[in-house]
Amino acid sequence: MHRYSANYIYPINGVPIRNGIVVIDNSRKIVEIVDPKGNEKEYESMEFYNGVIVPGFVNAHCHLELSHLKGRLEKSDGIAGFVSQIRNLRGDSEGLIRSSITQAISTLELNGTVAVGDICNTADSFSFKQASNLHFHNFIELFGLLEDDAEARFVNAKLLLNETLPLQSTSSLAPHSPYSISDRLWGFISDELHKSDSIVSIHYGESLQEYSFLMNRTGLLAESFKALGISDGIALGITPFEVVKKYLPHASPTLFIHNTFVKRDEVRGIIKHFDKPYFVLCPTSNLFIEGCLPDIPMLMNEGACIAVGTDSLASSNTLSVFDQILIILEKFSALTFDDAIKWATLNGAEALGVESIYGSLEKGKSPGLNLITNFDFSLMKPTKMSRVRRLA
Ligand SMILES: [Zn+2]
Repeated sequence: MHRYSANYIYPINGVPIRNGIVVIDNSRKIVEIVDPKGNEKEYESMEFYNGVIVPGFVNAHCHLELSHLKGRLEKSDGIAGFVSQIRNLRGDSEGLIRSSITQAISTLELNGTVAVGDICNTADSFSFKQASNLHFHNFIELFGLLEDDAEARFVNAKLLLNETLPLQSTSSLAPHSPYSISDRLWGFISDELHKSDSIVSIHYGESLQEYSFLMNRTGLLAESFKALGISDGIALGITPFEVVKKYLPHASPTLFIHNTFVKRDEVRGIIKHFDKPYFVLCPTSNLFIEGCLPDIPMLMNEGACIAVGTDSLASSNTLSVFDQILIILEKFSALTFDDAIKWATLNGAEALGVESIYGSLEKGKSPGLNLITNFDFSLMKPTKMSRVRRLA
């Protein structure tokens, strides 16, 4: 039995407990949460830390297989420039790709991450995930604007999904975005998704180009597809919301990734139509690609269930969920740490369907324990000097 205590513990499913104690067994399962209520006692084998103890973080959106692109992309003028840079950097050696994935997974662990929603276009990351103690949900990604190869792309994604079956991680198919999938490919994806209640993930509202491309084929995305000679198989004059409403099953848990340019009406539409929508924020990536952040106060106002991701090292210089929280709290100073820490833990765990193990400090769960140091106890917020240390 191990006892961990700090100035405060954040159970997430309840209010912070001053000098609270988390008791875990040798398998790291929580056996008790103690609220001393001012009646602190010395326990044998108790470790007390200055700071706050929170559950392990959940990174709801990552692309481990792009880790070899860390620091290699220029800050560009939006999504079209980003996509074309990625295209031009294809062809790295398998050795570099593999070593970068291994390094990224150890960074996730060091940053106090316990569960990850990871986008996969290849099997590159599978064996490394299998060797890791983290929980992974593999989102097998599908995209393709051409009608001709829609079936082949779908078959390949299903084959990749089958490769994940022997793994400990969970997996499901994930359409890339409303602007990158032909109507024909959507047909296959939609049929498949409606047959199960598995978790769906889709990049959504990441750029204004997405809206102008879908509505009237204007903007940089439209121009870049045209320059590449890609004639897309998407009906003209449709909004991103109309695309997801048309093709995604409303009853499945659905992760909407980015939401940088999502408008209030869309958020209302999504919340009304989908039973379990999660709005996943990836601040470092948004700042790198588009130079702005989603309207988080509006999302909160509308009652959106928010989770946090990092996106890939191609567009983010960090895979730390805590770094995302620090940015959010800095840019939106009215937000509380209580709100943000829930997004980084329990909401992410629910989005990935692993809330029975992760996301909160509750008896019976094994959520991992993180210590946040240099905490400002007058504001009950972390500071720029705060660091995360994994305790268990
Ligand atoms: Zn992404």
